[in-house]
Amino acid sequence: MSFDNLSLIYQLQRALSEEGYTTPTPIQAQSIPHLLNGRDLIGIAQTGTGKTAAFILPILQNMSGSYSKPRPGSPRVLVLAPTRELAAQIGDSFATYGKYTRFKHTVIFGGVGQNPQVRSLSKGVDSLVATPGRLLDLIDQGHIELSSVEYFVLDEADRMLDMGFINDVHKIVSMLPKKRQSLFFSATMSQEISELAGKLLSNPEKVEVTPQATTVELIDQFIFFVDSEKKNQLLLQLLRSNHLDCVLIFTRTKHRANKVTEMLNKNRISAGAIHGNKSQTHRTKTLQNFRSNHLRVLVATDIAARGIDVENISHVINYDLPNISESYVHRIGRTARAGAEGTAFSFCAADERDFLRDIEKLIRMELEVAEHHYHSEKARNATGDAARPAPRQQKRQKRGSGKYKGTNKGGKSRDSSRNKNQNKMKNRNKSGRKRTKNFDRP
Ligand code: AMP
Repeated sequence: MSFDNLSLIYQLQRALSEEGYTTPTPIQAQSIPHLLNGRDLIGIAQTGTGKTAAFILPILQNMSGSYSKPRPGSPRVLVLAPTRELAAQIGDSFATYGKYTRFKHTVIFGGVGQNPQVRSLSKGVDSLVATPGRLLDLIDQGHIELSSVEYFVLDEADRMLDMGFINDVHKIVSMLPKKRQSLFFSATMSQEISELAGKLLSNPEKVEVTPQATTVELIDQFIFFVDSEKKNQLLLQLLRSNHLDCVLIFTRTKHRANKVTEMLNKNRISAGAIHGNKSQTHRTKTLQNFRSNHLRVLVATDIAARGIDVENISHVINYDLPNISESYVHRIGRTARAGAEGTAFSFCAADERDFLRDIEKLIRMELEVAEHHYHSEKARNATGDAARPAPRQQKRQKRGSGKYKGTNKGGKSRDSSRNKNQNKMKNRNKSGRKRTKNFDRP
């Protein structure tokens, strides 16, 4: 299928072809026809599936049917996003896809001064992308009113709930006109999410592009059993391989994100951290440096990383396993964006063994075990009891002297690797052990 089959107006087609998009992604192919027909929609889609264009294109097209001069602070489109980064990216997408339409958009989020946002709103906007807190703030101050909203999008609804925005979302929805087109996107679908969707949507079409919470199939995934105090050494070894070009590292806490970043910079590996304690200016600058390859490594916590859309992330490294298993899917989805290939390495210490069990249950496969210099049988064989937090061992490690010299990419066909990942459940060897791959060989 090509974009021509979707009967998009010329202005949108022109913008898409300038972006080099020829074929709609599955979420786009399935959603756009329903949305052009004015239907409400619930989309279950992972990160990197192209869901932003899936909602922006039909909204711009539907709006173009009845143009009216934008009014100050009174948008026709409201997109709610959980984080500043995601809101900014959606704003960029409005600019890209709407380049040849005459619609105006603006983005508002907290953590920065409100004056430029208020000025932009006062000039009149058709589409408003907002995080919930700043939106409510500016509504309270009388800068925005929602009675003209015709199109409402709730993006990354699962993360909205995780971040405790549920009351804000209800408050905002209660201000919207009853007659509107509503779109609801979430990567995972829990009971709570279904209930929220039920309240917001009217007779929605449901589009699910991948089975719920399965792992992006193009990603090679490996688990490294390692004692907590050896994680830094293992990380340095992996990063000293030339193949790890553009690396996103996740830690569970902001403190750990800072520590890992410091450790890498001391070892002359350029790294920056983004998390909730960093100012918005710092986060934007760090992200820009990472995007432009001035930083090789970005270290992030889950919430800060939400919405990061950086092309060409070659490796995601889970320095800590997430304690919420859905986060694993979100994290590794940062590589392999829009059909590219990628690799995810996860470190698992003894006290994280239960998290690994939950992740493997969720993604319905076992991760391939990486053999490496710092391998810990203790971590590998830890049982439920060992999953209690281990005593803190924060001593800085000396530079690693291990043998790691290459990655899984060394001369191996990507297809063979992918097939192995997909068939992991079937592919345990006769002794019942997980299959392994040696990472010490070049
Ligand atoms: P999203 O899931 O909306 O964050 O999109 C992920 C990435 O895919 C973004 O970098 C988009 O620019 C890109 N993208 C979206 N749709 C297409 C398409 N049809 N063809 C190629 N790339 C796309």
